[in-house]
Amino acid sequence: MIRSLDRVIPALETSDGAGVRLRRSIGQSPFTRHDPFLMLDEFGTDNPQDYIAGFPDHPHRGFETVTYMLDGHMLHQDHMGNHGDLRSGDVQWMTAGRGIIHSEMPQQLEGRMRGFQLWLNLPAAEKMKPAAYRDIPAAEIPSRQFAGGCVKVIAGRFEYAGSHVDGPIQGCTTAPLFWDVHLDADSLFQSAVPATHNAFVYLYEGDAGVGSPLRALPRRSAGILSAGDAIEIRAGNSGARLVLLAGLPIGEPVVQHGPFVMNTREEIEQAIRDYQSGRLATPV
Ligand code: FE
Repeated sequence: MIRSLDRVIPALETSDGAGVRLRRSIGQSPFTRHDPFLMLDEFGTDNPQDYIAGFPDHPHRGFETVTYMLDGHMLHQDHMGNHGDLRSGDVQWMTAGRGIIHSEMPQQLEGRMRGFQLWLNLPAAEKMKPAAYRDIPAAEIPSRQFAGGCVKVIAGRFEYAGSHVDGPIQGCTTAPLFWDVHLDADSLFQSAVPATHNAFVYLYEGDAGVGSPLRALPRRSAGILSAGDAIEIRAGNSGARLVLLAGLPIGEPVVQHGPFVMNTREEIEQAIRDYQSGRLATPV
């Protein structure tokens, strides 16, 4: 069954960090999460004033952050001395787990900065695991050409015409799919997406319709997809670029306080106490 476009969540302009302008679709309110996805931010600007202040030191606990740079140069550093240099096309997959205190700072004074940050929830059993990173250079992200476009596979498996491409991120409990889909003008993209997964798409360039019956997805909007085991996306006459995210729902209560995402109020209070006393991210 082909998934239809159930709900459209237009991105809202907001700012975060020390004043970075961005567009938030998923997660702009507690009612716009899509289990296991907590938040999707798109940043995209040619104006340094919109990004230059970056994201100075801040904590996270209880989930994963995925940064996908389309254009630009960002440096990530954390309290344990890890650092990652993100350039155009690179991905950083960070499991905050029990805790991390890090900064994400632009390394350019001018030019275009564009990309995404996704927050992916962790189940209760994994919220307090040690922090971990995967820095994935663009060259290690496989893509698959097909008639009418191509897909870059960041996470999960993309199957097409009897073969498949596996992205560098595999084996998470939520079994996420993260694809960057580029479509030529008026082309049709069809793919299986496991029926077990919640799924959405976010259109960041061009025009597209989603599902059957076809329903237009406005640019810079997240489109929540209904249940089903396949997707269909038709690009408009200027082509389309979109990200597709899908994952197994966790089905647990979500209590969020800024950068802490836990299951209960008490766990949030503990996270705040741990942060204030300098114990957020130390080993147990
Ligand atoms: Fe962060």
